[in-house]
Amino acid sequence: MRCVERSWWCEYAWLPEGPVAGVRVQVGHDGVIARVEGGALRHDDDSILAGLVLPGLANVHSHAFHRALRGRTHAEGGTFWTWRERMYALASRLDPDTYYDLAAAVYSEMALSGITCVGEFHYLHHGPGGARYGDLNAMSEALREAARFAGIRLTLLDTVYLSAGIGVPLEGVQRRFDDGDAEGWANRVCSMQDDETTRVGAALHSVRAVPADQLEDIVDAVTMDGGERRPLHVHLSEQAAENAACLASYGVTPTRLLADHGVLGPSTTAVHATHLTAQDIDLLGATRTTACICPTTERDLADGIGPARALADAGSPLALGTDQHALLDMLEEARALEMHERLSSGIRGRFELPELIRAMTTSGHAALGWPEAGRIAVGAPADLVCIRLDSVRTAGALPEQAVLAATASDVDTVVCDGRVIVADRYHQTAGDVAKLLTSAVSRCWRN
Ligand SMILES: [Zn+2]
Repeated sequence: MRCVERSWWCEYAWLPEGPVAGVRVQVGHDGVIARVEGGALRHDDDSILAGLVLPGLANVHSHAFHRALRGRTHAEGGTFWTWRERMYALASRLDPDTYYDLAAAVYSEMALSGITCVGEFHYLHHGPGGARYGDLNAMSEALREAARFAGIRLTLLDTVYLSAGIGVPLEGVQRRFDDGDAEGWANRVCSMQDDETTRVGAALHSVRAVPADQLEDIVDAVTMDGGERRPLHVHLSEQAAENAACLASYGVTPTRLLADHGVLGPSTTAVHATHLTAQDIDLLGATRTTACICPTTERDLADGIGPARALADAGSPLALGTDQHALLDMLEEARALEMHERLSSGIRGRFELPELIRAMTTSGHAALGWPEAGRIAVGAPADLVCIRLDSVRTAGALPEQAVLAATASDVDTVVCDGRVIVADRYHQTAGDVAKLLTSAVSRCWRN
């Protein structure tokens, strides 16, 4: 039995069986939950969490630096591809210092919104023109430090990015992404170690950016002794143009291509999975590949609405990501998952509320390689997110339905690994996060 260091009494808490009133959560010195008791009276030394307490939220898909584009890309219409030009202009300006500043501010914003674990899909590896930094992993290490600053856990999804399109060499700012080939990427990444709050995973950017003959080397690189794999993420069929290029070059869909090269499986996450055939959905489901939907980004970039319900029915766990951070609000991602399905199907209640909670918590953490996290249960890291039920948005809502009414602004207290990182909506170590963001964003556009 763990020695208890601290205890909280939650007005309501979302336990594995659903929402329960009056829950005491006792946490050990190791930051792990030692005891959970429902229908409990408050003890004198308990800290009170007034509202609905969820497990820590997992943001499964992030490009932290895209946060500097928020509110700056809406003037001239366009498409995903014209948006990407703006993103590249930003990418060309960043160095390890500005990358750290931005990520530290963005991860602090995530903490304020209840995110206790983030998967960073990181491909900006090298200096201008592809010049190597003294520390080959300087940009990755900046992310590790940034997550530590914000007090949240990180899965570093270090990304292979080798071509501009199928058979098209990288050019301009894209040369900063280039490790030459899968072997070069693996040699760079293998020097990075896990630590208490960081796990090193991998990503292959997309079938546009990684030639098919490199895919199996990447799978080998993420396979550990004993056959278990580290998390492997991939952008999949976000745009119809990707499918067309893949069919033209390889004669198969991107999903089929990944399946044929052994990429799919329970430790793999397909991000977006928007434009899929019925066979693609079956392949993803049968292999238990997680689908990470990023609804607020997909609508912002006019990507389309993916077949999330069908993927879940086929067997794919669903996870959620804020991706480019047009918004940074996991409650909105979960709500949009359901609402976009309502718009496309004409039916309400396409997902049950426990499914939405799972997407934000247990499935998300599993996709990031933290399967022990994402639940309020003995043995799990003590990650607690308290949502007020007395705000102008949530007042009057049933606790069990409050996640469809609340926003990130209703997150009052956040505990990660037993440490209070946000109290009264204030970040305990980062301080004024709006100020940090303003400074980090203006610095990268000024340079
Ligand atoms: Zn992405």
